[in-house]
Amino acid sequence: MNEAAAETPFATHSPIDLSDLEPVAATPVNDVPGLAKKARAAQRAWARLSPRERADKLLPLKDRILDAAERIANLAHKEVGKPIEEALLGEVLPSADVVAYWTASIEELLESVEVDLDPLAYPGKVGVIHKEARGVVGVIMPWNYPVALPLRSIVPALLAGNAVLFKPSEIAPRCGALLDELMAGLLPDNVFTVVQGGGDVGGALCSAEDVDLIVFTGSVRTGRKVAAACAERLIPCALELGGKDAALVLADADLDRAANGIVWGALTNAGQNCAAIERVYVVKEVAEAFTKKVVEAVKALKEGDVGPLTTEAQRTIVSEHVDAAKEAGAKVLCGGEKLKEGYGYAPTVLSVDTDDLAVIRDETFGPVLPIRIVADTAEAVERANDSRYGLTASIWTKNVAKGEELAHELRAGVVTINNHAFTGALPGAPWSGFGETGYGITNSPFALEGLTRPRFILVDRSRGAREVWWYPYTPILRTIALAFAKLRSGSTGIGGKIAALFTLIGALPKRMKGK
Ligand code: NAD
Repeated sequence: MNEAAAETPFATHSPIDLSDLEPVAATPVNDVPGLAKKARAAQRAWARLSPRERADKLLPLKDRILDAAERIANLAHKEVGKPIEEALLGEVLPSADVVAYWTASIEELLESVEVDLDPLAYPGKVGVIHKEARGVVGVIMPWNYPVALPLRSIVPALLAGNAVLFKPSEIAPRCGALLDELMAGLLPDNVFTVVQGGGDVGGALCSAEDVDLIVFTGSVRTGRKVAAACAERLIPCALELGGKDAALVLADADLDRAANGIVWGALTNAGQNCAAIERVYVVKEVAEAFTKKVVEAVKALKEGDVGPLTTEAQRTIVSEHVDAAKEAGAKVLCGGEKLKEGYGYAPTVLSVDTDDLAVIRDETFGPVLPIRIVADTAEAVERANDSRYGLTASIWTKNVAKGEELAHELRAGVVTINNHAFTGALPGAPWSGFGETGYGITNSPFALEGLTRPRFILVDRSRGAREVWWYPYTPILRTIALAFAKLRSGSTGIGGKIAALFTLIGALPKRMKGK
């Protein structure tokens, strides 16, 4: 490593061939509070625009993304190592879809809602819930989908009327800078700001006085730090953390589809996907035929179909997981070694007969597919659920009704039958998890709830000098309260309800006169 590399928090070499990457300027940590203050000031005017006006300003981003498709894909290829096809399909197209979805739906999703109020108990009152911006949102992101993931949170956060301070990963700062460029000129100054740096800049965002919410995607280890920092300031945070997704292959699975789908689900983005398939439980009747097809499919991949790991550190974790599994008796059916070029690791299929392995318990985040044979569907479900994580899971079966039923048994925020992981690209579908996967929700109107706060405004057009429940407390007030209790109780018969109603009609006008 040269001297410049030692000083920068940023990745300096392409994982493809270790060629130099463009230098990036870090945001001084001490600048973060001031940038948050500027964002706060800009946010007020931004939130006063109507959702339609905000959407109209952001909509051109969609075509800017599509028109820059090759540039984005080439940069993601060079900076984080993903194949160009994966960059186009996983970064460019879903990002344009995100802009299209939120700009089309934001007006309706932010519509105010009137609360039903009983006119007898609350005469003259109209109460409305307004969905308002939280204020300044800090968006802290990982490197594995450096364009698509940030936009999934940035776009709805902005359209809800928030200002955003976005911190890209130090492993993918150039993709972050490209997002900044694509956004240039669309929004008022300081409504969207990119801050570049490592954990210190992320930490400064969490503790900046003017940041009201942190949306974080990344590792469990950092997620805990972010949650603790936000707890200290009593601000909310949304956490989307790691995964250890299981695929369950049932006896009636279409084995060709299952093998092809599971190989893709495990190896796309070199397995550096929070929703990568990292465990397969296959029932014994079809285990041999399925495993054979998986190994054939992996061996048929051509060079470049699976990119390198993005960092040497990630390759080390992958290598350690595989080596430990080998030592514990796992069979390597293919792969199992580092490649010479860049940070490459050979796509690997393991046959394992225990879950007591790092490669089954911990997030590997690499191109490794461990397969375990199970006696039946019940065992597959039990093993799939035995994990600290719970992001997505897939069930492979021709009996889709049975698959849907089983989906409810799985401890996973997303379950796909005969497919895997791609639903992260659907802006209308919620993405969330159980356990150490965290409690954030990305995509869909559920995500918008976290990015807004409900403000309830009640207008009272009553002309009376006092409300029924105000002072003075008198016997008539007790009569009224008891009559309301009778009227509302399910055990009061129709006669009792009519009597209670008459009591109220007689007592309320007297009460309004102060009796
Ligand atoms: P990471 O936790 O190392 O870093 C994530 C971000 O946090 C980076 O921008 C980093 O600079 C920042 N950061 C580091 N220390 C910080 C601190 N103290 N305070 C605030 N910010 C800090 O994660 P990573 O290696 O970039 O990403 C890989 C992880 O992300 C994997 O575990 C993967 O499963 C997870 N992930 C989850 C999802 C999901 O939707 N659940 C999606 C993608 C990735």
